[in-house]
Amino acid sequence: MEIPDILNEDEIRNNLKTEWNGREIHYYRETDSTNIRAKELAKAGASHGALIVAEAQTQGRGRLGRVWESPKGEAVYMTTLLKPQIQPIEASMLTLVMALSLARTFQELYGLEAGEHGIQIKWPNDIVLQKKKITGILTEMSADIDRIHYVIIGTGINVNNRKIQEELQEKATSLFLGTGKKLKRSQVIGKAMEYFEQDYQKFMESHDLKFLKEDYENFLVNKDVQVRVLDPKGEYNGIARGINDKGELLIEKDGRIITVYAGEVSVRGMYGYV
Ligand code: ATP
Repeated sequence: MEIPDILNEDEIRNNLKTEWNGREIHYYRETDSTNIRAKELAKAGASHGALIVAEAQTQGRGRLGRVWESPKGEAVYMTTLLKPQIQPIEASMLTLVMALSLARTFQELYGLEAGEHGIQIKWPNDIVLQKKKITGILTEMSADIDRIHYVIIGTGINVNNRKIQEELQEKATSLFLGTGKKLKRSQVIGKAMEYFEQDYQKFMESHDLKFLKEDYENFLVNKDVQVRVLDPKGEYNGIARGINDKGELLIEKDGRIITVYAGEVSVRGMYGYV
């Protein structure tokens, strides 16, 4: 018999083995966006590690204001609130930390390999299964010039979706569609919180990705392959060579290495989305 995939605060708490991450839970049956909720909750004094989860979103967003499709009942929409003692410029690396934690989560729970026959990360923030996107991450921050008030990391995961809407079918899939395995979303959330707690700790030891880079690169789709860099200042082709300790993508072009900062840039494979 199939285990019902019920998502609520108790289910999430029952699957949590963390010390601080996800211990304060805010659950919504439907909300505008978990990042918007997280900002409000941060202003109202929510704590470091607070977790905001919704069953559906009416205004889910990706990077650069793009829409994140958020149908009810089968996917995970969650945001982690952090109050890290780091420089504002260091915060964008947390997107890569979360991408790694989620990749580890899917690898373990679904018994998948890291790499083209399993889970891959498309730099900086997408997780890909069979060349199609299963997860997007949007990190936002409130800060003064030298002090962070809070960082929020929003994640949308296509977990048990039985169908992907027509317009996205070329580039998106779900863990269920890709593996045939149906897991409880609360289990996926719990494992992700656990890995993120560990990876965040490693990030805080160096304030960069020094201790995580190797693991991240194991999942990286854009390694030693031709890519097109969609830089608003001008697009170009090159060969992606991995990341540096700051999480920037290294592109080899005309015998030189260019470092690409995540902010405004998208990277495409030469043949299709990945
Ligand atoms: P790209 O995926 O185009 O390289 P990006 O990493 O900046 O860019 P995100 O901000 O993570 O993209 O997500 C927004 C994009 O993801 C949308 O433009 C759409 O193509 C795609 N998308 C929207 N909803 C979903 C979903 N539920 N599952 C998978 N992909 C989605």
